[in-house]
Amino acid sequence: MSVNSRGSETPDTEDRVVLHGTPVSPGIAMAPAFVYGDILDEVEVRTIDASEVDGEIARLRDAVALVKTELLRDARHVSKQLGQGEGDVFLAHSMILEDPSILEAILDIIRNSHVNAEAAVAEEMKRVTAVLSSADDRYLRDRAYDVSDIGQRVIERMLGVWAHCPLSQPMILVARELRASDTASMDRGRILGFVTELGGTESHAAILARSLGVPAMAGVAGILERVRTGELIALDGALGVAIVDPSTDTRARYESMREEEIRERHELASVLELPSVTRDGTEIALMSNIASGDEARQAAELGADGIGLLRSEMIFMSANLFLDEDAQFAAYREAVEPMAGKPVTIRTLDVGGDKFVGSENPFREHNPNLGYRSTRVLLDRPDLLLAQFRAILRASAHGAVRILVPMISSVDELRQALGRLDEAKGQLRSEGVAFDENIEAGAMIEIPSAAMVADRLAAECDFLSIGTNDLVQYTLAVDRGSSYVSRLYRPHDPSVLALIARSVEGAASAGKPISLCGEMAGTPAYVPLLIGLGLREFSVSNGRLPATKKAIRDVDLDTAVSLANEAVAASTAGDVAALLGLDDSRHHEEP
Ligand code: PEP
Ligand code: MG
Repeated sequence: MSVNSRGSETPDTEDRVVLHGTPVSPGIAMAPAFVYGDILDEVEVRTIDASEVDGEIARLRDAVALVKTELLRDARHVSKQLGQGEGDVFLAHSMILEDPSILEAILDIIRNSHVNAEAAVAEEMKRVTAVLSSADDRYLRDRAYDVSDIGQRVIERMLGVWAHCPLSQPMILVARELRASDTASMDRGRILGFVTELGGTESHAAILARSLGVPAMAGVAGILERVRTGELIALDGALGVAIVDPSTDTRARYESMREEEIRERHELASVLELPSVTRDGTEIALMSNIASGDEARQAAELGADGIGLLRSEMIFMSANLFLDEDAQFAAYREAVEPMAGKPVTIRTLDVGGDKFVGSENPFREHNPNLGYRSTRVLLDRPDLLLAQFRAILRASAHGAVRILVPMISSVDELRQALGRLDEAKGQLRSEGVAFDENIEAGAMIEIPSAAMVADRLAAECDFLSIGTNDLVQYTLAVDRGSSYVSRLYRPHDPSVLALIARSVEGAASAGKPISLCGEMAGTPAYVPLLIGLGLREFSVSNGRLPATKKAIRDVDLDTAVSLANEAVAASTAGDVAALLGLDDSRHHEEP
């Protein structure tokens, strides 16, 4: 395929497969594919001698015992943290491994077919999964996923999580779906891009890709059947094109596009040394969204004005467990210290929706984004909320920490959460533990109901922060993680803009600051619009800092205000896209 300029393509008949999808993160990459998630298909089948059979059986038994211990630990943890019912899911998983017929069948394969243990597990688990998947009963069909997951866990324990990846060099990760829990444990240094079948522009894998600054595309139907591990992929994330086994010409073209991109990025990075002000001198605070202490150090090096959002659940997900107060304190302190007195906004746990500690949704809801998520869970679990508040408060003795409470849908919820914060402060005071008595606490505006009462929320806390990733999903009833409706996920819809405008006015009427930390802020085409709507503080992933700062420095305030007025008054998202010069089908354009 020839790409003459952005958006115009000429087929090259020697490219083996050209895949089209939704662009979710711009950039060019060329590397071998690693097809993730089909470990049951990919596992190496090795013939063994009769003398090796006992050794393989011992390896299998060790791995099974290890996975059982992990599952029981998870069950205990989750039961303690979230209730018996949720913990039972993990117990049910461990029962799969107790099933003598499954274990005997695996042992028989090793003994009779003389193959390595992981190949025997893969064969038996695929057989059981196939039987369950074709059952009429929905409950049994749902169990197919569990069996496959358990099979993968056992194999991973024998091989190591990434050991089944035959590639030692950087790769493009290809998967049917990347859940937030998958991305939390990834070897990020080796990933040059993502291609997935499922997932929308604001799925967590998409956000991760943009924060890593690597290209990504989603919505590629049948991806697992079309790419094999080891095949070379040339990926253009801005166009949403991936070429499998590209021709010599295509390779050369992608190489030069990549070199050009590196040159441009280098030039763009120089903007980080300049102040974050519009052309007319209006100051705009530009902060970072982070998920770890490492990213805090990177944000400090890139000159971010602070941390506008630390997604604390990502720290829990990387550790794969609910951290206790001391472990949380250590993690938050690691994020606070590098910022050397600049504000660090730590958000309380946002679990549920598509984010779980452990690979499973313990709640098994049909509509998890409207269900048991985030602050709703924490208000039911004061022990968790108090431990988190205490850890954040303790970290506030080491820097300018702010607390942010996500997914607030009413003033009542905010009051309840702040009541717990007061309780945590009281406990620390009576224990003589140091914390910042003037610590600020804010609410996220991610739900239309919160935007509608933003003035009243702002009156009861110290600041607001708009999370457009969720605000768009809940306003337009478009799942942020679904590839099927991703073309309807339009942050520039006039209804979303009206809610942002209302939130900004609400904060102003209460005399409180408001920032925006959704991905919209890191999309240069939206920056003039958001400044025109009155926002003066943004928080974006580290990878988006240069492009966002450049966009801020290009803004003229008067023009931005007229643009925002016109956009809010527009009838359709298409009309707003035309005003912004946006291709309405793509929201993450090249900077
Ligand atoms: C948001 O919803 O915009 C946000 C910043 O939170 P998250 O992406 O973690 O849901
Ligand atoms: Mg959110």
